[in-house]
Amino acid sequence: MNAVIPIRSASATGCTDAPVLKERGQREVFCGLTGIIWLHRKIQDAFFLVVGSRTCAHLIQSAAGVMIFAEPRFATAIIDERDLAGLADANTELDRVVTRLLERRPEIKLLFLVGSCPSEVIKLDLARAASRLSTTFSPKVRVLNYSGSGIETTFTQGEDACLASMVPVLPQADAMSDAPDLLVVGSLADVVEDQFARLFNQLGMGKVRFFPPRQANDLAAIGPNTRYLLAQPFLADTARALEARGAQRIPAPFPLGIEGTNQWLWAAAALFNVAKNHFDAVTEPARQRASAAVARQRTQLAGKRIFFFPDSQLEIPLARFLSRELGMELVEVGTPYLHRQHLAEELALLPEGTFLSEGQHVENQLDRCRAAKPDIVVCGLGLANPLESEGLTTKWAIELVFTPIQGYDQAPDLAELFSRPLVRRLKLAA
Ligand code: SF4
Repeated sequence: MNAVIPIRSASATGCTDAPVLKERGQREVFCGLTGIIWLHRKIQDAFFLVVGSRTCAHLIQSAAGVMIFAEPRFATAIIDERDLAGLADANTELDRVVTRLLERRPEIKLLFLVGSCPSEVIKLDLARAASRLSTTFSPKVRVLNYSGSGIETTFTQGEDACLASMVPVLPQADAMSDAPDLLVVGSLADVVEDQFARLFNQLGMGKVRFFPPRQANDLAAIGPNTRYLLAQPFLADTARALEARGAQRIPAPFPLGIEGTNQWLWAAAALFNVAKNHFDAVTEPARQRASAAVARQRTQLAGKRIFFFPDSQLEIPLARFLSRELGMELVEVGTPYLHRQHLAEELALLPEGTFLSEGQHVENQLDRCRAAKPDIVVCGLGLANPLESEGLTTKWAIELVFTPIQGYDQAPDLAELFSRPLVRRLKLAA
């Protein structure tokens, strides 16, 4: 690799066997409904019907910034007091809402019934409802269900639950099917997906497909010969469902930063017998471009101390990028869940001695954060304003999921997401 970025060398095992502080207490995270915001943009003929309360409707509408002239592809079927008291048949009401929706919106090919805290509290069986409605509206519309409730979840689990619900309907690969050689799993911005598709094509890697697809019926066949590459670190249930269908994961770090992208692409390319010199030649222009731009960001970020509250599940790959390519110091790296298998390559690259925590006890973590006085804190929206008012500089974790950050060309933009709040704070202080 010809990068001009001085990447820190890792010890042989980094944080592979590092102790992890496990915390169980009050958490400050969004629920899985939030995933609808990026998933409805990704699967362009899908509709997300939240079966929830007015609170759920407000969350989605305010987070997605609904335009009044647009026909949004998500809505909430409101469960009201009568439903909660068991006075109305919620299933009859749901059937009526879905029928009206599909009459009005004939372009919908895939409908997700998305469970919420209220639907779980009244034990509304959305799996059975989805199966009933699928039978009614098949073959024009497929109806699936998943839970986006805030009970024991963090917001990126919404995507995991959504993709896991789609795995059973992926066609079975056989000798006659057009099965891909490689399946890239995890929602990526279209611009990033196109860049990766071009690189895979230039590398000569055969048929590469992305999941979720942009069109609901454009489903890749899978089977025992399918190799898949996770593009997001929060897809434990999806991975389990794919493996139950025989697919095999390609172990790799995640495509954040130049180094992560390089290792992620190479993990797949090596498996498909791409020669290293061909790989280097194909990827070099993008690596060179990104290296020069990341080097400029490094001047702002090197030596700055960063503290991660657990939120997006991107924390460990981000910490690896910021430490190794930008020279930042990791004060604490908190993550809602630590999937040791999927994050093994990332943990090995983290500097030895990094303070890792899993789960959350928000008061204890706030105490540690205040005592450490980091230069920048990555946290949810609920914590950002109070911490800013105490003089700390913050970065909203959720912005990292809404922004295209994967791949070589996005590495400088990703670094800038962290340097910008620091520069703004400096200007305010001047
Ligand atoms: S699903 Fe639960 S946490 Fe999410 S908005 Fe609805 S009530 Fe709130």
